[in-house]
Amino acid sequence: MGEFELIRNFFADAPCAQPGEGVVLGIGDDCALLSVPSGEQLAISTDTLVAGVHFPDACDPFLLGQRALGVSASDLAAMGATPLAFTLALTLPDVSADWLQAFAQGLNLMAQGCAMRLIGGDTTRGPLSLTVTVFGRVPVGQALTRSGAQPGDLLCVGGPLGDGAGALPLVLNQRSTETSTSKALLARYWSPQPQLALGQALRGRATSALDISDGLLADCGHIALASGVRLLIERDKVPMSAPLLSFFGQEAALHAALSGGDDYILAFTLAPSSLADLVDEGWPVAVIGQVVEGQGVMLVDGQGQDVTPITRGYQHFRETR
Ligand code: ADP
Ligand code: MG
Repeated sequence: MGEFELIRNFFADAPCAQPGEGVVLGIGDDCALLSVPSGEQLAISTDTLVAGVHFPDACDPFLLGQRALGVSASDLAAMGATPLAFTLALTLPDVSADWLQAFAQGLNLMAQGCAMRLIGGDTTRGPLSLTVTVFGRVPVGQALTRSGAQPGDLLCVGGPLGDGAGALPLVLNQRSTETSTSKALLARYWSPQPQLALGQALRGRATSALDISDGLLADCGHIALASGVRLLIERDKVPMSAPLLSFFGQEAALHAALSGGDDYILAFTLAPSSLADLVDEGWPVAVIGQVVEGQGVMLVDGQGQDVTPITRGYQHFRETR
């Protein structure tokens, strides 16, 4: 199968690559064309997944397709953007029709769940890797950035943390557990559900936001730095799921929730006066701390004692100093 046949069979003909809102021109030309309503801005983010680094070489291609788009779309959620479209740059060691078929189906399922169109990409030969670039739209001035947290704000998250990291020993076949627990954790890893609706509901309410991909403590550090504030996190308020607690036990579950990464849950700050409406509207909002003057992230126990761990999250290139 040649490059063009591959593109047509598995991607250009896929349901998610058909014309839709905002897409003036899709796959097939030198560029795709998107239109953005006046008064709105484009939000753009790109993510690369490398075999052996971000996923095991031998993983299920359907799940990989879902996950590749899910983790990228999560960045749109974090900005409060409405998803529009995405591109896919695919590097493959060889062409397997079965692999591509399953991959495209997983990608398509996530694309339809997120209401996103596949509008282009690139197909090359080499070690397996995937780069997904996502495009969304957001009203001018309403994007949720990392830099607006104010002393006095509450720090919140959009759901239980640590499940993605909790699933890793299962993904890597290092441990097993009863079916219902492993099913729940593996679903959180392989089909992360980007919190797109929550992100949009936070427009005009959250003062800062991001999606947790490298661990709560590390990612809150980004908000603290960008906003010039300190984030105080109350250890006992960090939400964790029942499957994670039963698989890992309290202590390891907490470690996964604080430093594990792969959550794709939103963390955000807001003025205390904005909380009640969000809760009344039924959004999943757990208050886990507050914004104070200062810098960095501090974890405190029930007595207010500093219990901040030293290791914080995953980095591909660690500082050598
Ligand atoms: P160019 O010669 O301009 O680099 P290509 O030959 O790489 O274009 O791709 C032809 C068309 O197919 C383009 O519209 C491109 O966006 C699209 N395309 C290539 N690979 C993929 C892919 N993996 N998924 C979706 N679209 C793709
Ligand atoms: Mg090309």
